[in-house]
Order: sequence, then structure tokens, then C-alpha cells
Amino acid sequence: MTTVYTFVKSPKHVFPDHPERPERLEVLQPKLDSFHAQALDAKPASRDEVSLVHKPQLVSALERVCREEAPGIIDYAPTYVTSSSFDDALLAAGGALTCTRAVLRGEATNAFAIVRPPGHHAEPDRAMGFCIFNNVAIAARDALANGLERVAVIDYDAHHGNGTQAAFLNDERVAFLSAHQFQPGFYPGAGALKEAPHAKKRIVNVPLPAYAGDSVYEQVADKIFRPFVESFKPQMIFVSVGFDAHWSDPITSLGLSSAGYFMLAQKVIALAEEFCNGKIVFVLEGGYDPVNVANGAEATFLALTKSPRRNEAGDLSPHKEPDCESLIEEIRKWHGFS
Ligand SMILES: [Zn+2]
Repeated sequence: MTTVYTFVKSPKHVFPDHPERPERLEVLQPKLDSFHAQALDAKPASRDEVSLVHKPQLVSALERVCREEAPGIIDYAPTYVTSSSFDDALLAAGGALTCTRAVLRGEATNAFAIVRPPGHHAEPDRAMGFCIFNNVAIAARDALANGLERVAVIDYDAHHGNGTQAAFLNDERVAFLSAHQFQPGFYPGAGALKEAPHAKKRIVNVPLPAYAGDSVYEQVADKIFRPFVESFKPQMIFVSVGFDAHWSDPITSLGLSSAGYFMLAQKVIALAEEFCNGKIVFVLEGGYDPVNVANGAEATFLALTKSPRRNEAGDLSPHKEPDCESLIEEIRKWHGFS
């Protein structure tokens, strides 16, 4: 059994001075061979596959804009498209599907789709937040279409996974948890604790203050991720992993280190082993410092392949962490986790 990955760099999906750029993956790329994981070729998603999540009119509109009007900005985040972006986005979604199917068919133990453009802000009827198609949501729906009855998505990108939440808000087959920075003016503005009162325990938001880091996330994993998975009993876990929750990310202000990313990956993998026969697929979202992306991805691969931690990145946060104990209790209480 083995860990597999797909790598979709999309070199032509690039825009002047934009943080979501191919260079994000340039420190990681030469290290991929050393991770004891097997590369799979990503096959582009079909229009029908992306339509498992997105409205067909959005898919056609994006294709037309990319082919006829690009390059340009399509929303305020700003989200850009180039003439290759439609195909790049199909390949990114396909990278997540390729990983998911390898795990579902039992050909791989677990997987990591390292893809861009990212996906978790993209809603069923709009592209936004540097995202075109919602890669992780498409993969989760595909797993359901292939016979699973319940899957969970855990999102620990620095930003709220509003697109994934929108896709599954009323889909009882999918549980969604997002832990993210939350304060006035922080993108995308969604992800408040009490945002989905109709779906307690199934749609779970963990809105964190600035500088929340390794020890806060460890408590969140133990006291919220665990009862969330325990109560929903998914058959497979997807992880939207963004390395922009690292303390030195240029566009956010959380406090994770590479050791924190290793700890989080180990904890969600352990949950998948306990509840899902080990079935887990990580999908890359954000992360805007190429060194952090490389270190975070390495930490994730080490956890996936059961390798000891090596090359300690030595990048512990210099910031004091806020005390989040009462916030975590409030979240547990709201959802009835005990
Ligand atoms: Zn992000």
C-alpha cells in the first residue's frame, strides 16, 4: 500500500503581482521525489464532473471568459483568469479526482492532491477568492457518486472554506468543518460560529483570533475535529490544507509552524484510520510563501507515509498564542459535542 499524489502547477495561470502564482510550488517541486510517495498523472475533470458541484451555466460562462476575454479579473478578491485558466482549473479538479479514486479503489492508502488554482472559496454559482472550481467539493461529491454514503471535509486553510460550506450546506451526506482566522475585514468574512444553526455537528465553524498557532490548533483537533468525526462517522475524510495558516504567511496572521502542520496531519490521519479505514485525501488550498508550502507539504507527506519527522524546519511562531479555551468550549457547547 502506498501514498500517492498529483502535482498540477498550472504555469500559465499567472497574473502580475498576484500572490496565487506558480512560484508558490517552486521550492516544493524538486523535493517531491524524496517523499516516498508515488506520483499519478492528473486527468482533467470533465464538465459533468465539475457540474457535480457547480451550475452548468457557471462552467460555460467561465469557459467563455477564459477563451474570449482573458486575461482579466473576475471578482474582487481579486480572482484572475488567463486564456489557459479554464483548462488549468479542470486539471486541478482532476488532480483531486485522480487521488480520490486511487484511494476509493484501494490502489492507494492515502493521497495528496497538490493543485492550483485552489478551490475552497469557489461556490456552486461563482468563482471567487483566487479559486475557479472547488476541487475538494468536486472530489467529495465524486466519492458519493461512487458509492460512499457519508464523507467529511476538514479545512485548515487560514481562510474560511465558504465555497465548500455553500456546496454542502443542505447535503446531509457531507459534514464540513473549517478552522480559520476570523476578524472584521478578514477574507471572505464568512465562517462565524453560529452560521449554520440547522446543521449543528455537521457544518462546524471554528473562527480563530490572530496568532492562534500550534497549541490552539492541537486543542481544536482534540476537542472539535475528533467529536465532529466521531458523531458523523464519515467513510472518507478530505482535508483542505492551506499553508497560509503558517505564522509567516504574507497575507494572513495565524501562528502555525511546520511542526504544527505535522501534528495536524497526524491527527486527521489518525481519525481516518479510526473511522474510515484510513481513507483520506489532502487537497492543497492556499499558502503564499513558497518555503512554507514546501515545509508544510513535506510535513504532510511525512505524516501520510508514517515517516518520522526530519529536517525540523525550526520555524516556531515568535508570537504569543491567544487563550482559546473558552472559545473552544463555546463551540463544543453550541454543537453539543461532549
Ligand atoms: Zn487561504
